[in-house]
Amino acid sequence: EAKDRGRGIYVEYSPKMRIELEERVSLERDLEAALANDEISISYQPIVGGGDRKIKSYEALMRWNHPTRGNVPPSVFIPVAEDALLIERLGAWMLRKACAEAKTWDDAIKLSVNISALQLSTGEFLTTVIEALASSGLAPNRLLLELTESIVLEMDDETERLVNNLADIGVSFVLDDFGHGYSSLNYIEKMNFSMIKIDRDSVQTATAGSSKSQAIVTAIVSLARSLDIDVTAEGIEADDQLETMTRLGCSSFQGYLFGAPKQSEAQSATSSDSQEAA
Ligand code: C2E
Ligand code: MG
Ligand code: MG
Ligand code: MG
Repeated sequence: EAKDRGRGIYVEYSPKMRIELEERVSLERDLEAALANDEISISYQPIVGGGDRKIKSYEALMRWNHPTRGNVPPSVFIPVAEDALLIERLGAWMLRKACAEAKTWDDAIKLSVNISALQLSTGEFLTTVIEALASSGLAPNRLLLELTESIVLEMDDETERLVNNLADIGVSFVLDDFGHGYSSLNYIEKMNFSMIKIDRDSVQTATAGSSKSQAIVTAIVSLARSLDIDVTAEGIEADDQLETMTRLGCSSFQGYLFGAPKQSEAQSATSSDSQEAA
């Protein structure tokens, strides 16, 4: 409430709020046309195994190249897409396209796709996934869906059934951005994750020497191991971070040290520089 912020009466719309609102409406409008205008693409970032550094999977990350704004980061446009109820359409496009591209990779490499809460709560999601798998011919066991903790914590019975249905057809789940203030670990057992990704902030604190966060990582790793869950450290940029997270028991790694997100070859044929700045 505006009146809670201080004494006196505030105008409903300050000039700043007005600009923000207009900005948002304009982003929304542009995003609505972005797919049809070929402005949306996918970058892929490798996730490697410890030791041999072999690529286990690629994470698909959505990109928006706006004609005048340039590259709008997902941290900006994904929330807009969610609010404007465009995420379902963008997400379905993403799944179809990424599955088709993954089909052309080495069979041993999996595909990881980020999923928003809203996608899970619309009735179409199961059909969308089945169609993406069927039209691409990608084996279901090569598809991983990344969910954040908040999605899992707020899951209702219907969504749980959906997750079980997807698991039944062979799709796996990844718990993304783990470390953002978890409150209960019960769901880790309930959800049958195949992988937990420790978020970049936690990796940074642990590798900067905080013995507290190192102890937390060690505990997570031992819990995950006992449940046969793979633990990935996100945002690895330097050798010493790799060393520390390896010592703490992480078995997979993702970050600029192993490769920044990159457009696939077919897409990069139309752009001069396909490797994103690290
Ligand atoms: P995320 O799923 O945790 O993805 C990892 C993010 O970390 C990516 O940011 C990636 O570019 C970045 N990253 C990877 N390695 C490093 C590193 O070594 N250092 C640093 N500083 N960053 C690194 P990006 O692509 O900007 O995506 C941000 C978030 O947007 C993603 O976080 C994900 O939550 C969301 N997102 C991206 N694509 C999609 C999508 O298709 N659907 C949905 N629902 N969300 C998406
Ligand atoms: Mg992710
Ligand atoms: Mg993540
Ligand atoms: Mg993250």
